[in-house]
Amino acid sequence: GVPRVVVVGGGAGGATAARYLALESGGAVEVTLIEPSRSYFTCFFSNLYIGGLRDMQSLGHGYGTLAAEYGINVVHDWAVAVDRDARVVALASGASVPYDRLILSPGIDFKNGAVPGWDVTAQDDMPHAYRGGTQAELLKSQILAMPEGGTFAMIAPPDPYRCPPGPYERISMVATTLKAMNPRAKILIVDPKEGFSKQALFEEGWQRHYGGMIERIGPDFGGAAVSVDPAAMRIDIDGIVEDVDVCNVIPAQRAGRVAHEAGLTEGDWAPVNAADMSSRLDPAVHVLGDAAAQGDMPKSAFSANSQARVCASAVLGALTDARVFPAVYANTCWSLIAPDDGVKVGASYEATEEKIARVDGFISELGEDAETRADTYRESLGWYDEITADMFG
Ligand code: FAD
Repeated sequence: GVPRVVVVGGGAGGATAARYLALESGGAVEVTLIEPSRSYFTCFFSNLYIGGLRDMQSLGHGYGTLAAEYGINVVHDWAVAVDRDARVVALASGASVPYDRLILSPGIDFKNGAVPGWDVTAQDDMPHAYRGGTQAELLKSQILAMPEGGTFAMIAPPDPYRCPPGPYERISMVATTLKAMNPRAKILIVDPKEGFSKQALFEEGWQRHYGGMIERIGPDFGGAAVSVDPAAMRIDIDGIVEDVDVCNVIPAQRAGRVAHEAGLTEGDWAPVNAADMSSRLDPAVHVLGDAAAQGDMPKSAFSANSQARVCASAVLGALTDARVFPAVYANTCWSLIAPDDGVKVGASYEATEEKIARVDGFISELGEDAETRADTYRESLGWYDEITADMFG
């Protein structure tokens, strides 16, 4: 019969892989996409929503085109287990879906106990807003409800985590909103890391746009020894207790649960081969995006999309006689520091035996003029439209 590919997770990695497989195979493989949500709300640009530059509606995308125009069998359900010997995925509904090749792109989970005092049952009081949708709305409503001169705190995550500049773009967009509505408010970042992505660019921008509003406490001053009390809205930074009005806890991360359940992880992430994103533990399974341990690429939607194209070509080549494209990868991460003040960092990558290895890269410069920064922001708007079209058709 026709070979069957099952894709688990309809996000940046999974939706792209499913779409390319359906598009390039012309019906020579059967593609099933398993994704519980009927609308995917992008994490990318959710910070712009917090900054008042996007509405939530504009971040939501449905799977209708993938089903109707690409012939993908879209199943709205959770994958709960994978029987890799029988090559069957078990769904929460009780159904089971057989595969010849399985592609997992389940994104992230949070590590239990990463921030003492916080677990997912506290996410209403101290939101993470690090997976799509309602959490970002909750965080924004809390920011808008802050008392005059109040304190917004962020507990930043340790490496590696999804979107290295994401927490710091978020800080910038929180500052944009507070500068307009609550200019005496304070922003406190408690950070376990020595440094972070695009740090010099962010710090220059924070100085310029939000002078004095933002304070960061790094590991030398207790940033790695923080606990929280969500009921009391208090944080304890190595013995120094602070009352806060909003607390955004972004915990340490690991591969989405189903990757662990399937026995495809070593430690927190799922190791893969750089040539085709196949699991190092099972050649019939590929792992994409944030869940994969692949080498030098940051965990981003751009990376997941790039990996999905390579993977789709490799899977099609393995199941049919389609030509396989060489594995080359790219990433760019744009961040918005203030309205029209965009910066970027990016690189190209190649597949080696050992890993996806960085070849060369670029980064915005300090002190760029306003026109360059506005161009960079406009470039990011174009990218958003491109990647969401590449995912959802
Ligand atoms: P996801 O896109 O999260 O997709 C995973 C999907 O799998 C989800 O839809 C989920 O419902 C589904 N799923 C999970 N478990 C199961 C299961 N058991 N069964 C079925 N389905 C399941 N990246 C950029 O490139 N540029 C940016 O500007 C950018 N900004 C960001 C800003 C923020 C605030 C955040 C949080 C992230 C940002 N990112 C950005 C990162 C980007 O969102 C992720 O890296 C990207 O979404 C990873 O793709 P993925 O396919 O691995 O996971």
